[in-house]
Amino acid sequence: MIVIRSIKKLSSYIKDQKERSKVIGFVPTMGYLHQGHLSLVRRARKETDIVVMSIFVNPTQFSPREDFREYPRDLKRDIKLAESCGVDVIFYPSIKSMYPEGYLTYVDVEKITDFLCGRSRPGHFKGVCTVVVKLFNLVQPDIAYFGQKDFQQVIVIKKMVRDLNIPVKIKICSIIREEGGLAMSSRNTYLSEKEREDAKVIYEALCKAREMILKRERDPKVVTKQMKNLILSKSTSKIDYIAIVDTKNLDPLEETKGRVLVAVACWIGKTRLIDNLIVKA
Ligand code: AMP
Repeated sequence: MIVIRSIKKLSSYIKDQKERSKVIGFVPTMGYLHQGHLSLVRRARKETDIVVMSIFVNPTQFSPREDFREYPRDLKRDIKLAESCGVDVIFYPSIKSMYPEGYLTYVDVEKITDFLCGRSRPGHFKGVCTVVVKLFNLVQPDIAYFGQKDFQQVIVIKKMVRDLNIPVKIKICSIIREEGGLAMSSRNTYLSEKEREDAKVIYEALCKAREMILKRERDPKVVTKQMKNLILSKSTSKIDYIAIVDTKNLDPLEETKGRVLVAVACWIGKTRLIDNLIVKA
């Protein structure tokens, strides 16, 4: 495995692989790797010839009040984990090389970024789309792998890829959870022992929603009310949103019918966590 920091070196590496007709798989991350990230790598390893992982804590997707500075970073540890799962190249660019002085260009997907996470994190998806387009242009992957955990992110990226005719296939990978159900996240390191225990309620609430929907509860409001009560039973929790939406376009549903996405964002203490479940009603 090699670690490439410079854009120029990455470009010449990619050119070389393309000349040899290698299929390139790409896993973009912000590092501080866990089994969720590594599941994306394992899938890419099976389906492509060369696996490129980017590690870049992207400043443009954090608002000034968010945790850009505190976001956990440990490149040494990430290198070991990435290598053990068969990553060929870690692309680890500097902020200066990605956003040189005078940088002015951003990619904005409209409408589907106005609600859910987009509402409480204005500008977040603009930052995500911008960095993902830049990374796609640099890595030129045939297939890029994203986690279902950030469901809105994948829907937004798929839309962007379609709208901008970017020649890459997007694959969605299942959510990897800790024992007890908490979705793995680099931000879980912020949680105290008590908060980690309380955070299990998020998955419990999602499972409760699934149970209710499968028992033919058709009214999303009845389901979300139960979820809300369950989550708020923990002293450290505060809800950002609970939503039951269409899996294709994230439109809110009047009735739980077909394939629905149950999505939650909440704070456990000062840590904002997201999770979701797809239910076939
Ligand atoms: P991040 O480093 O948090 O930006 O995540 C990088 C990629 O890993 C994104 O596509 C995430 O959706 C995905 N990911 C994060 N957590 C998980 C998880 N628990 N299970 C599966 N994929 C995940």
